[in-house]
Amino acid sequence: MTHELTVYNSLSRQKEKFVPLEEGFIGMYVCGPTVYSDVHLGNCRTFVSFDVIYRFLLQAGYKVRYVRNITDVGHLTDDADSGDDKIAERAKLEQLEPMEIVQKYTNGFHEMMTIFNTKKPDIEPRATGHIMEQIEMVQTILDNGLAYVKNGSVYFDTIKFHEQDGLYGKLSGRIIEDLLTETRDDLKNQSEKNHPSDFAIWMKASDAHLMKWNSPWSLGFPGWHLECSAMSTKYLGNQFDIHGGGNDLKFPHHENEIAQNYGACKCQPAKYWLHTNMLLMNGKKMSKSDDNSITPQQLFTGDSKHITKAYSPMVLKFFMLQSHYASTLDLTNEALLAAEKGYKRIMEANRYLQTITDHSGQGHAELDQKISDLTDQVAADMYDDFNTPKALSRLFELVPVINSVKDGKEGYGDIAKASIEQLQQTFRIYLFDVFGLQDEFEAGGNALSDKFSGLMDLIIDIRKDARATKNWDTSDKIRDKLTELEIALKDGKEGTNWSIK
Ligand code: AMP
Ligand code: ZN
Repeated sequence: MTHELTVYNSLSRQKEKFVPLEEGFIGMYVCGPTVYSDVHLGNCRTFVSFDVIYRFLLQAGYKVRYVRNITDVGHLTDDADSGDDKIAERAKLEQLEPMEIVQKYTNGFHEMMTIFNTKKPDIEPRATGHIMEQIEMVQTILDNGLAYVKNGSVYFDTIKFHEQDGLYGKLSGRIIEDLLTETRDDLKNQSEKNHPSDFAIWMKASDAHLMKWNSPWSLGFPGWHLECSAMSTKYLGNQFDIHGGGNDLKFPHHENEIAQNYGACKCQPAKYWLHTNMLLMNGKKMSKSDDNSITPQQLFTGDSKHITKAYSPMVLKFFMLQSHYASTLDLTNEALLAAEKGYKRIMEANRYLQTITDHSGQGHAELDQKISDLTDQVAADMYDDFNTPKALSRLFELVPVINSVKDGKEGYGDIAKASIEQLQQTFRIYLFDVFGLQDEFEAGGNALSDKFSGLMDLIIDIRKDARATKNWDTSDKIRDKLTELEIALKDGKEGTNWSIK
């Protein structure tokens, strides 16, 4: 059956039929990371979500140009117009050049994206590589009368823009009058702005500022929001189809992007705005200061008090797919254990399914219909705003069918050969091409790690028995040897856990 793509558009706050600006082609821009520290799991969730969207659009037959930037200048520590540059601050701390910081954390980000088996974007532009384009855009906005210069800095005039187009605040649902009062108190060193809600598109740099460029207005640097406006325009045109990012970027970042694009070309840049929701842990926002955070590395090694064991990257990815990109996702040990079980079950079924070559059923009305309905529904769910949890649940409904074929259950041998082929194709396409999962058993990875976990359980058991009988020689020997192998044991109320250091 053919399906129609619908997406939830944050701009209109409703689900809309997706109609690309040019039939068959899609331009998609996603805000990439600010490369001043290790990428965290929340970032990974957003980028994995857009990877699945990109993969599905390709699968649906579109020719997609996917642009995801690297922010390497202009993002200040307070996320607005004051504070130091996040990258420069980190450079001072680590005693490195800003560009060394950029390279270090860009490499780390790319490694993490490879670990999660995401596709590379078609273009990955950097803000520092597009200073000329940003200066040109500032000039155009000035020429259009929507910005003003003050002491070498250039500010976007939000009030004038709002009076002209009534658009400032539309995406984030902010009301200009509230914005004016909200931001009035934090003016401090921003007193050169005409209105508190105005924002910098070019900033004059202080002498101490590390990253600065010549411009018609001052030796300075571009405002954070400007890079995305300039680079999306350069690579996707004044108007393009999809703009994405986490929903924490709606305001001020995306709101200001829209304002700048309007200021430069009098048009709404993206037709559809897609926002991912935040990753939580144990029901609360992940936060380092509240001791409620975990890094991808900790998850992969099990070295965290929040989890009882190590989880593989594909289990994590599977866990992410089990919720819709626009819903919050709560990471708990229980949820990860469940995801691990689900991942193994579906991979196991698929492994058998793909080995069936000699099926010769003549047809079974009910089962053939069930396979046809459910496989079609998998596609329908993905066409419905990329609903991965629903699509996965249809695949799960098909697992007992596969297992019954395997067990030779009565009637299942009659399933038509074409239905089996349909199943094989659906599982192959969705698990691997669209969701971008990998079968870790097949690669030998998890099969090995399962055996390893089993061995560790056995060793922990032997140590427990030794301690119970006060056989300290054996228990010390086990701990010392494990320490040598860089495996740590943690004794707690609920027993002993292990992790790889
Ligand atoms: P940043 O490097 O902070 O600019 O973030 C890069 C991307 O990750 C942006 O699209 C953010 O919205 C997104 N992001 C940041 N924190 C989280 C989180 N906890 N959950 C999901 N996405 C996030
Ligand atoms: Zn951006």
